[in-house]
Amino acid sequence: MKVYINGKLVDKKDAKISVLDHGFLYGDGVFEGIRSYNSMVFKLNEHIDRLFESAHSIMLDVPLNKKEMVSAIITTLKANRLRDAYIRVVVSRGEGDLGLDPRKCRGNESVAIITDKIALYPKELYDKGMKIISVPTIRNIPEAVNPQIKSLNYLNNILAKIEAINAGYQEAIMLDHLGYITECTGDNIFAVKKGGIYTPPQCMGSLRGITRDTVLDIARESNIPAHEHVITRHELYISEECFLTGTAAEIVPVVNVDGRIIGGGKPGNITKFIMKEFKKLTQKDGVRYKI
Ligand SMILES: *Cc1c(COP(=O)(O)O)cnc(C)c1O
Repeated sequence: MKVYINGKLVDKKDAKISVLDHGFLYGDGVFEGIRSYNSMVFKLNEHIDRLFESAHSIMLDVPLNKKEMVSAIITTLKANRLRDAYIRVVVSRGEGDLGLDPRKCRGNESVAIITDKIALYPKELYDKGMKIISVPTIRNIPEAVNPQIKSLNYLNNILAKIEAINAGYQEAIMLDHLGYITECTGDNIFAVKKGGIYTPPQCMGSLRGITRDTVLDIARESNIPAHEHVITRHELYISEECFLTGTAAEIVPVVNVDGRIIGGGKPGNITKFIMKEFKKLTQKDGVRYKI
């Protein structure tokens, strides 16, 4: 496997970052998870835009411009001869000293691009649906580390994931400080009620997922009413269907929330329709490359 690191393609075993990199010391950096399907990178420009927005917000200079970033990603995919891939782009503050001051890292910002094949969950889960649980750790509130920033500082989500795993579940629902639903640890969440789909508004302490926005587009084009609206746990419990969205996991049906069975315990029709339409889009849309 070849990994892109600061302008070079190197073997995985040589793809190394300094222990003084503030990405390692402090989680000071930003990232993106992107997928390519059938030699097309899905929503590439949207991912690049979000990467640069995350970096701008934390005052991190990305050493490449957007065009160079696109070509670095494509080059890495080609070097690994991957037609269907998961792409991880990481921009870290770079090597500094042991203090927090990011000015010490200036000019050392580093970019890594790792491409691989991953399936986050077994196929069975997509057929049968997932059970999820709400956990005690609340999602970072926007006034702290804004969840809109896709940062390397993932401990908030990891704590929630640990709580879910300790309780015997694979995924956690994270609430905000008022008890409203925000998202899962790496995925956005949707509820279906009376034929319409609902997801929390982006100001509610969730990341504005690109898969989430794609699902909202699919719904609007298919005349399925789509709402960005606050959701309580009660509303999720009484929903007819529920599903999660994210680049890595794609679309995952949920059939049980906090022990409450959703939609008779089977993935619902709207969820299955959206899964099908999403798959169609990924097979025809995207930035094309040749291996
Ligand atoms: C990346 C991520 C998502 C999903 O976003 P996509 O753009 O759909 O991949 C949702 N929540 C969190 C916390 C994330 O980091």
